[in-house]
Amino acid sequence: MKKLIKNGICALGFSVFLAMTPITSQASGHGHGHGAAEAVKSLTPAETMKTIIEGNDKFKAEHDSHHFDSFQNGQTPNITFITCSDSRVHTHLFGMEPDNHEFVIRNVGNQIGNSEGSVDYGIHHLPTKVLVVLGHSSCGAIKAAMGDYSKETPGIKKELEPLKPVLAHDDGQGSFKERWAENVERNVDYQVNYSLKLYGDQVKSGDLAIVGAVYDFNNNYGKGRGTLVVTNVNGETDIEKIIDDPLFKDIPTGDVVNHVGSLAPAVNW
Ligand SMILES: [Zn+2]
Repeated sequence: MKKLIKNGICALGFSVFLAMTPITSQASGHGHGHGAAEAVKSLTPAETMKTIIEGNDKFKAEHDSHHFDSFQNGQTPNITFITCSDSRVHTHLFGMEPDNHEFVIRNVGNQIGNSEGSVDYGIHHLPTKVLVVLGHSSCGAIKAAMGDYSKETPGIKKELEPLKPVLAHDDGQGSFKERWAENVERNVDYQVNYSLKLYGDQVKSGDLAIVGAVYDFNNNYGKGRGTLVVTNVNGETDIEKIIDDPLFKDIPTGDVVNHVGSLAPAVNW
C-alpha cells in the first residue's frame, strides 16, 4: 500500500530548485494560504535586501542584548541537523528555538558525504547527542538525480553523483511520484547508514542517536501535510521497532505512531 495521496501543489523541478530569483508568498514571508496554492510574488533584489535588513532590525528590537549572553562566546546546541537547502524546509517547524540549539548543515539532497567535515564538527566537537538526517517531499535534488543531469554544471553533477547508490535500489516500479517519494526516504536511509559508518562507535556507547526523517508537506505518508515522519533510528527501519525505541519514551505512543512511517522497502546497504 504505497499509493501517494494526490496533492494540490505542483512539484517543483530541479530548474526551479536552481532558480536564482527568490520567490515568496508575500513580502512578509508569512503567507499561510489554504487549499490551492496562493499567488506568489517575486521580490526584486532591492526588495529582498530591504526585507532582510528591516527583518534583522525587528529581531534586534524584540531581543535585548541579554539574548546573546548565554552564547556570546560559544555554542551549545542539542542537535545536529543535516537537511536539504530547499527553501520549503526550515527547522523552526519543529518547536525548538534554533538559536544556540540547532547546528544545521544544508546542501542539495541532505547528503552527509558532501558536507562531511561540517557533520564531523557537530558530532565530534560540539558534540551533539542527536543527529537528524532530514529529507523532504518533492526534493528537487532527488528528482534531478533520477533523470538526466549530464548537462548540468560540474559543481551540480559532483553533488548529485553520490546519490547513485541510492537510486540503484529504485526498481522503476510504480508511478514517478511514488518512486520519487520512495527515493527521498531511500536517500535518508542511505545517509543514516553512511553516518553510522562514521559515528557508529558513539551510537554503540549511547552517546549519539542518529535519526532519519522526512518533512512531508505533500502528505505522501498519509499523516497530514507538514508532518515530521521518522523513518529510521540508528539504521532500524522497522516501524514497530522504531516506535518502541527508548528515544521516544517521553512521547505518548499515539503521538509517536503518528510520526513514524515507511514508504520504501528496507535496503541492506
Ligand atoms: Zn531537497
